[in-house]
Order: sequence, then structure tokens, then C-alpha cells
Amino acid sequence: MIDAAKLTDEYGCLVFNDRIMRERLPKDIYRAVHKTIERGTHLELDVANCVAAVMKEWAIENGATHFTHWFQPMTGLTAEKHDSFISPSDDGSIIMEFSGKELVKGEPDASSFPSGGLRATFEARGYTAWDPSSPAFIKDGSLYIPTAFCSYGGEALDKKTPLLRSMEALSNEALKILKTLGIENVKRVNTTIGSEQEYFLIDKNYYKQRKDLLFTGRTLIGAPPTKGQEMEDHYFGVIKPKVSAYMHDLDEELWKLGIPVKTKHNEVAPSQHECAPVFETANVAVDHNQLTMEVMKKVAEKHNFACLLHEKPFEGINGSGKHNNWSVCTDTGINLLDPGKHPGENLPFLVFLIAVIAAVDEYAPILRLSVASAGNDHRLGGNEAPPAIISIFVGDELSEVLKGVEEGSAYQGSGKVQMGMGAQVLPHITKDNTDRNRTSPFAFTGNKFEFRMPGSSVSVANANIVLNTAVAEELSKISEELSKYSEEELPEKIMDVLKEMLLKHKRVLFNGNGYTDEWIEEAGKRGLPNLKSLPDAMPYWISDSSIGLFTKHGIFTEEEIRSRYEILLENYSKSVHIEALTMQEMVRKDLMEGIIAYEKDVTKEMLQKKEVLPEADCLMEKSILKVLDEATSGMSKELIKLKEDTAKAEQMEDDLLSQAGFYKDTILTDMENLRKYADSAEAMVPDKYLCYPTYGQMLFSLI
Ligand code: ADP
Ligand code: MG
Repeated sequence: MIDAAKLTDEYGCLVFNDRIMRERLPKDIYRAVHKTIERGTHLELDVANCVAAVMKEWAIENGATHFTHWFQPMTGLTAEKHDSFISPSDDGSIIMEFSGKELVKGEPDASSFPSGGLRATFEARGYTAWDPSSPAFIKDGSLYIPTAFCSYGGEALDKKTPLLRSMEALSNEALKILKTLGIENVKRVNTTIGSEQEYFLIDKNYYKQRKDLLFTGRTLIGAPPTKGQEMEDHYFGVIKPKVSAYMHDLDEELWKLGIPVKTKHNEVAPSQHECAPVFETANVAVDHNQLTMEVMKKVAEKHNFACLLHEKPFEGINGSGKHNNWSVCTDTGINLLDPGKHPGENLPFLVFLIAVIAAVDEYAPILRLSVASAGNDHRLGGNEAPPAIISIFVGDELSEVLKGVEEGSAYQGSGKVQMGMGAQVLPHITKDNTDRNRTSPFAFTGNKFEFRMPGSSVSVANANIVLNTAVAEELSKISEELSKYSEEELPEKIMDVLKEMLLKHKRVLFNGNGYTDEWIEEAGKRGLPNLKSLPDAMPYWISDSSIGLFTKHGIFTEEEIRSRYEILLENYSKSVHIEALTMQEMVRKDLMEGIIAYEKDVTKEMLQKKEVLPEADCLMEKSILKVLDEATSGMSKELIKLKEDTAKAEQMEDDLLSQAGFYKDTILTDMENLRKYADSAEAMVPDKYLCYPTYGQMLFSLI
């Protein structure tokens, strides 16, 4: 249990953070590292050597014998390879060593990570490079050094490299425009992220008994329980003692790792919960979310739970997401999406607000794609999460402000004051006024945008790479337009430029209920894309618009974009393939075993009954047997179809897009059809005949 009095000392005790560096590094070295972190400048080897020596000493004091470069390959997970600090001496003893070179660069064998054809397996070399802007930490007796991962030829093979590039691009474009607006003292603009993480907790033994959860992370069969989430009694409900003990332990582990988790509560679905940290710089926040997911699973083990991070673990029950709260902040402390009370900040706010609106509209397909996965496709559009159509909610007050921009008239709210550059002061927009619409996929929430489409299991790196780059692009367009005018003309012209941009993209603004059919129809009329699945969205990734955007800002080369195209498609097809195989096995073996045993008992009982009572009509027994027989006949037919289609799908390797499309249209439909029969059979069979737990047991057994 956490000793609250000691928390301020224990927080971050496993992190080589700024405080430790300030205390332990020589002043000039500390300044050099700090500059690298703040400005992204190059780090000299002598500085790295000194940092490595101090880091090693600190790590050993804290129980580490090994170090590892920690990176995020395209598997979506993290990867690590541990080396010990030991170096044998001639006299048979050892010394503990760790050089600057080892800190800065690693050479893991990269051949088995997905590269989408960027690196043939015989060119196995890959490099990891230290990312000093995300602090090193200690876990399980090893010093973890966050790194970027690239190929011998320098192509990014991970999610961190493009994320860092996108932050840089956004910062550069933001600085340019701020300078035009007369704000000169800003040296860097940071992207900030707070990601709210949803998850399910179920009994570990139940988890182990289900092949579908073990192999695919979601249930592939399962009759609905007689109670679902219709009573709305779980959201923000009292946290059960066992779950509360888990949450305490999780907080403690995360705090030690310097992850500022702050909020925890029950979610809408039974057994569903959420934890959210205080926001951090994008790159650190993404690393921390990866680490959070890992620690969540580990701590769950200890408490006899399994932590399910899949986007849709249970049919008919809400899935899990990861709300990506996003903003941009100057190194001088100005949140550029804060409407604020101070007139001087308002024009930058309008510029950034309209740039975000334009970015989200123009690049909606790739933003949609950034959250696409086999798992998340089951969640988006299911009347529980945002639809697959991207729109922006800004709320009533901001809508008025935007109307003012459009009409070229002053905003008529209270406290209207003219600004130096022609914009008027905006009202201070409180969170309460804007945070009402929970159905919007992209909502303005007071001083940030909340992107609600990301799935619970994936890294939020992709979503932020697209968001940062798209906003950087819109800012660059504004800058380009403004560069046509003289300084005297600017104050007047700037509102014209913003107005034009807003008019072009305002179709993406929608304040209503995003879960309704009317909206889907209306969105169609507005021409907003409705990309329901990963295969639907995939072609946009290699469109001219996407390649143009990413190459212009130096985020991806065209080769990198195409390699990611292959990786995403392959990954999608593989995921559905594994699901198809697992489902066949579960139905054929686990479910059938239960059905047969039950049928046998019912038949036996019926025959015995007839002996005692020859006139008995045995209606109940017969109707059970009849339903089961119908279901198993259906299952048998659907199993054959699924098996044949899965074999067909495997043959389609030459065309990855068609293959993924086939998995979506044919295999997933086959699975749905099979499931209908399987679930109707399972609903008839008493729990004790089944070798796996039912929905009811998994979702409601925790007391
Ligand atoms: P909700 O009502 O959606 O639960 P919260 O107020 O709990 O909203 O905040 C959600 C997340 O938004 C938190 O992780 C918080 O740290 C984050 N957040 C707040 N301000 C910013 C910001 N400027 N940039 C990024 N994230 C932010
Ligand atoms: Mg939220």
C-alpha cells in the first residue's frame, strides 16, 4: 500500500530524470544535455560519455545489472535486448562498464521486425539511437534507454522516429507563424498529449480458459448474458475492493516510473475501467502510455486478473478506446489552443484553431487510417464510440466566434475588445461550456482537442504523427499566404486568410449527436468520408495527398510510406486469419465437447424418464435437443465455409489490399454467421458443460 506521506520522494524514483541529472552531472554537461532535450540539438560524444558514466552509477545504485535500448518497432509493441554492464578483467574479476557509445547507439539484429520490404532479411542490421528527450528508467533490474529504431540506410523502422520528426515539423511551422504574428521570443513549440486509457479486468483463470482471449485478445463466440450494460450502473460506480487494490498498486508502480497517472474510475461496461495521466510532451507521453499498458498487464497478474486492452473484447458490450487529448504549447508556456483571457493570445488561438479544423478536414482519411486496426474496426461506428466519420465539435461559444470570423464581424459576446492585429478578444471559454458532446470523434474541450477514435491497445504515435503533420501543413499554408503581404497590410489580411480557410473546411464542423443515422446521412451530403474499415481507408495512405504531405515535411520518405502500407495490410490480414483459425478450433472442439456432453445427458435422462413414466412427452428435452441439433447443423455448414474461405485468403498474398479486403468482406462475415449458430447453441448449454467461462461469468463474477 502506498505511504502517502512518502509519495513525493518515491515519485519517479526509478527514473533518470532532470532532477537526478542536475544533481549528478557536471554543470556544463547538464547544460549541454538540457539544450539537446529542449531544442533537439546534436549531442557530442564526450558529453554522452559523461552522461553514460553517471547513468550507470545511478542505475547500479538502484539495483540494475543490465541496460537495454528500448524501442517501438512496427509491431506496435515495444522491444528490448538486454546487455549486462559486466566486463571481465584478466584477474578473473569483473568491472561494470557503460560507455557513451553504448548509450547513444545500439545494433540489435533487426531482421525479424516488420520492415515492409525496406530491409531484406540478409541486411539484418538495424540501429537504435538514444532519444534524450524521453528519460531512461529502471525496470526489472535493467536500465531502459528510450531509443529510435532505423535501418542501415537510415529509414525509420519504428513509431518514435516519425513522431519526433512530426513534432519538429509542427514546431517549425508554428514558430514561423508566431513570428509573423509578432511573437518573437518563442524558441520551440511542443505538442502535448494526455491519453486516457480504457481497459477491462477479468479473472485470470477465466482468461486462461479461453483460447480466443489468449490468442486474439477478444472473444470470438459467447452468448450474451441476461444482464448487459443496460442498467447504466457501472459508469463512475463504486470501485470494488479487489479492483481498487489493483488500481492502487498500478498507481504506485506507474508513479515510481515517473508516469503522472491522476484519474481512475469505472467505465460504462461491466468490468471496464479507465486511468488517465496528466498530459506531457507528446514523445514522452507516447512512451509512457506504452509503458502504462505493459505495467497494467503485469500488475493484473499479481492480482489474479487479466487486463484486456483489446478494442472490442466482448460483443454487445462497449469496447475500449484511448482518448488522445492534444494541444500545442510554446516553450514560454502559452497553450496555443487556450482561448484565454488575455487579448495578446487570441490571434494565435484563432490561427491554430482554424489550422486544426482545416487539417482534420483535409486529411480526414489518413487521420482515420491512423487509428485503424482489425480490433478498432469493431468498435468505431458501433453506437458506443465515435463513428468512422471524422467531424469536429467546437461547442456553441466557439461556433459564434467562428461565425464572427466568417462574417468578418466582431464577436458579439461580452468583453469585446479590439486586438492589435484586428481580431477581437474572445470570451474565456470554460471547459464546462465545451465538454458536453461525448459523441464527437474530435472535440474541442476548453484548451485542447480530444481525439476519441484511437483504440485502447495501440500506440497513439500514429494518430499524433498525422495530426502534427497535417496541422504543420495548414500552418505553412497560412504562412505562405501571409508572406504575400507587407507588414502594414497584415493585420487586415490575416482575418481574410483565416476566413477563406474556414469557409473551405467548415463542413467538418458538427455539434450534434454523432451516433445517429441522420448524421451519417448528413455527413454523406457534406462529402465527408465514411471509411468503415482499415482496408477501406488504406488506399488513402499511398495517395498523392498523403505522400505529398509527409514527404514535404520530412516525416516519411515515399519508401517509408509504402513500407508502412505493406506492414499495416499484412498485420490486418494476419490478425483476422488468426481469429478465423482460433474460432474454428474453439467451436469444433471446446463448444462441441460441451454440446455433445449435454445432449448425451439430456437423451439419457429422457430415456430413463420414459422407463419410469412411459406416457411422458418429454417436450422440454426434445425442444432442447432440437435447438441444439439445428445449431450444430448450422455450425457444421458455416465451419466448412469458413475453412474453405480461409484457405482462399491465404492464397491471395500477391495482392495485399485485395487480401485484406477479402478478410474483411468474406472471412469476417463467415465468422459472424458461424457465431450466430454457436451463440444460440451455447445459450442452451448449462455452464458446467462448457470448458470455458461464459460472458456472464467473465463480466459479472467479480464481487
Ligand atoms: P475528461 O473529461 O475527458 O476525462 P480530463 O479533464 O480528465 O477530461 O482530461 C483528460 C486528459 O486531458 C488528461 O490526461 C489531461 O492531462 C489532458 N489534458 C489537459 N490539458 C491538456 C493539454 N493542454 N494538452 C494535452 N492534454 C491535456
Ligand atoms: Mg475524455
